[in-house]
Amino acid sequence: MQKTNDPTLKSFIPVKPESHFPIQNLPYGAFVPADGSGEPHLCVAIGDFVLDLHALPREEYFQASNFNSMDFFSRPTLNEFMGMGRKAWTEARTAISRLLRYDNPNLRDNHALREKVLIPMDKVRMVMPVDIGDYTDFYSSREHATNVGTMFRGKEHALHPNWLHMPVAYHGRASSVVISGTDLYRPCGQMTDPETGLTVFGPSRMLDFELEVGFFAGPGNSLGRPIPVDQAGDHIFGLALVNDWSARDIQKWEYVPLGPFNSKNFGTSVSPWIVTLDALEPFRTFGPEQTAPAPLPYLQSTPSRPHTFDIRLDVTLKCAAFLTPERICRSNFKYLYWNMCQQLAHHTVTGCNIRPGDLLASGTISGPGETSSGSMLELSHGGSKPLRFPNGEERTFLEDGDEVTMTGWCQGDGYRVGFGETKGKILGIV
Ligand code: CA
Repeated sequence: MQKTNDPTLKSFIPVKPESHFPIQNLPYGAFVPADGSGEPHLCVAIGDFVLDLHALPREEYFQASNFNSMDFFSRPTLNEFMGMGRKAWTEARTAISRLLRYDNPNLRDNHALREKVLIPMDKVRMVMPVDIGDYTDFYSSREHATNVGTMFRGKEHALHPNWLHMPVAYHGRASSVVISGTDLYRPCGQMTDPETGLTVFGPSRMLDFELEVGFFAGPGNSLGRPIPVDQAGDHIFGLALVNDWSARDIQKWEYVPLGPFNSKNFGTSVSPWIVTLDALEPFRTFGPEQTAPAPLPYLQSTPSRPHTFDIRLDVTLKCAAFLTPERICRSNFKYLYWNMCQQLAHHTVTGCNIRPGDLLASGTISGPGETSSGSMLELSHGGSKPLRFPNGEERTFLEDGDEVTMTGWCQGDGYRVGFGETKGKILGIV
């Protein structure tokens, strides 16, 4: 039987080559009708449609699969399905893929059912598909840590002595993780007035985005039982785009000694689609070498196996005065120094328990070269070198009305496996 990520697979739903959602992808999400009424239904994306997994007569159409947990698709979130583990995920994906194939008449020729379960994307509103219990944000890009460390502490002390030994992270705030399209108020907080040096309170004047990719945890572990690095892959359900909005002036004053707090807790945006590891498998690749120093044994993944993915990432900015958004960053997930399995192994090495649906984000993904920096802080050199746009606008940090959009995709031969986008606009202060 053909694999679900085989490049030659075709669906009876027409899918353009630049679409993020061919039959090879089938990312999970949740939607409500566009008028916002009703309970969320779980779905997958296919071309310009969502396939409503809740409304699908699953006993009938998934009959051939051994997957016996169809009830999980009648829940409003993916958490229980995420907790089922890789075998169930693959079986469900196989059944859905089979149903959407061009040569399977079951759904293709049942026009009444197609009307019911295949809904155009512009007729639905995507909602958060996961009840996120805990959110952790790593700091795993060497380029980003070096750029930011240089600005905060000077070139000599850019990387803290621990950085090359462990995937550094902080515990984030799950309650303010929002779905793409949620606009955010400009936060107020404590900061140092750059002119007087006095401690003042007010709206952040250095509001920023951070280009990240996060993963949602699968079954997880019980308290006291670490997840070994070579088993960590079985605890990763899928990936989504993440924008970790950041107030740099608040961050600079508050981050010593316990790390970010108010500068990050006012909002984190995620894309509505979660792309599974099965869909990403053909795009597996090697990350940066880790030899100087070599990681401690509990962080050593099999060196002969590629542990990351080639995911192209773009950020665009739309100022109110622009007709169209301008691209300001192009980066790639593969630049990250620490991979997801190392992050998960490190997170749990103390016995800390991860639960289904927990979100673990990568940290800002910057790469080599100026245009691959994943934050305004880096792109504008700490605010000293404004970005200049063709219409004459300039930006060092985000202003009210600015909209940031992140997108990401893997490029196959004639098709893409993509994440859609995560966007958000900055409103004024409350
Ligand atoms: Ca971050």
